[in-house]
Amino acid sequence: MDQLRAVKGMDDLFESDLSLWRHVELVARETFLAYGFGEIRTPILEETAVFVRGVGEGTDIVHKEMFTFDDGGRPGDKDGTTSVCLRPENTAGVVRAMLEHGKLFADAYEQVFYVGPMFRREQPQAGRRRQFHQIGCEAFGTSEPGMDVAVMACVHTILDRLGLSSSTKLLLNTLGDPAERRGYTDALVAYFSAHEARLSDDSRRRLKENPLRILDSKDAGDRALAMAAPRPVDFLSDAARAHFDAVCAGLTRLSIPFSRDPFLVRGLDYYTRTVFEFVGEAGLGAQSTVAAGGRYDGLVETLGGRPTPAVGFAGGVERLVLMLKAVGAPAHGVAPELALVGADDGGRALCEQLAFGLRRQGVRVVVDVRGRGVKAQMKSADKSGARHSVVVGSAELGSGQGRVKNMATGDVSDVALSVEALRAVVRAAHAGG
Ligand code: ATP
Ligand code: MG
Repeated sequence: MDQLRAVKGMDDLFESDLSLWRHVELVARETFLAYGFGEIRTPILEETAVFVRGVGEGTDIVHKEMFTFDDGGRPGDKDGTTSVCLRPENTAGVVRAMLEHGKLFADAYEQVFYVGPMFRREQPQAGRRRQFHQIGCEAFGTSEPGMDVAVMACVHTILDRLGLSSSTKLLLNTLGDPAERRGYTDALVAYFSAHEARLSDDSRRRLKENPLRILDSKDAGDRALAMAAPRPVDFLSDAARAHFDAVCAGLTRLSIPFSRDPFLVRGLDYYTRTVFEFVGEAGLGAQSTVAAGGRYDGLVETLGGRPTPAVGFAGGVERLVLMLKAVGAPAHGVAPELALVGADDGGRALCEQLAFGLRRQGVRVVVDVRGRGVKAQMKSADKSGARHSVVVGSAELGSGQGRVKNMATGDVSDVALSVEALRAVVRAAHAGG
């Protein structure tokens, strides 16, 4: 029989990778909370309409990347089927949820963050998967440039705490407001139409459906043409320009380095004014954007709510983990702190009791329940990377005293065989490095 395999572009992850993943997720969660964002979890399946309306029909995501299917309706109701899809991104779903639960009333001021899987039918490569994972946040209810700055500062802090801020660059642009966008889009269409024969097939389609996205094309010919295209910044209203200047000033006040990229656009229809990307320099090849976002003042209204300004970002966990590996970040502390080695039946019984007590205090303990000899157990303890070991046999049972061995240095010291004493020894050694 053929070996069953995971679906193309979807990964099985094991502890050897997941210690870094947990580190990324933990740093992200702590940082979001530090910035005042509260967590939100929404379903992985949404009605397709959420993304058709929210992300836009002309976008690559909706046009060709969604896993869409019929939900089969209710039993006995053949006509009542609904088109659903695996969420390709989370902003539209978050807005849908906030609206459904009445959280975006007039004067609402809400900040939420999420961590979870997204799905896109893309050509799988390193850092580009069909199931991938995003961290992200959304801030609703203010059009103040200070919130654009806070969102970028939040991404910067996450990267900084991961040790990645010096190997990433922040690129910043403004797309202006919808009214100016229309004028700009017309100019763009006029420019690219004059050079239509030189555009890639994809961009010829974008010319009709989503001309802005041509600027975002990865095709070399398209990119060369785009260099001389009209730029959004030449079409800004005074208000949009003032907003952009304030965002730049805010970043400068926080000493967060950034470069203006006049051709930076985002693939989604919903962005207004600020757009940004954090681009990594290590380990990512062509998939170099680790986080991206911007302001989307029109989205809430598009999805049926009151006009509510908003700004947010999403970052890719896979790409952050690839960067961490490329800069040689150490795996994050999952080795056992203590191996308890039973030399005989009585020793094993005490090891199990001690392990129970220590684990209840969160100490990482290994005990061998297979009744193997001391030598075999010590070998396994060594292999597991355990930092300390204690052998417990009849002598130790009798005296209530054991010898704790530092596995790295070989140093030994006496310790009472109690949960408190063992915990103190293991944790003191840990705190001292
Ligand atoms: P790209 O230009 O690389 O396709 P995107 O514009 O489609 O990115 P967004 O929709 O803005 O990406 O998603 C935000 C972040 O999520 C990206 O910067 C990236 O880190 C991550 N990401 C997006 N798609 C994938 C994917 N298929 N696999 C892994 N990570 C992804
Ligand atoms: Mg994409």
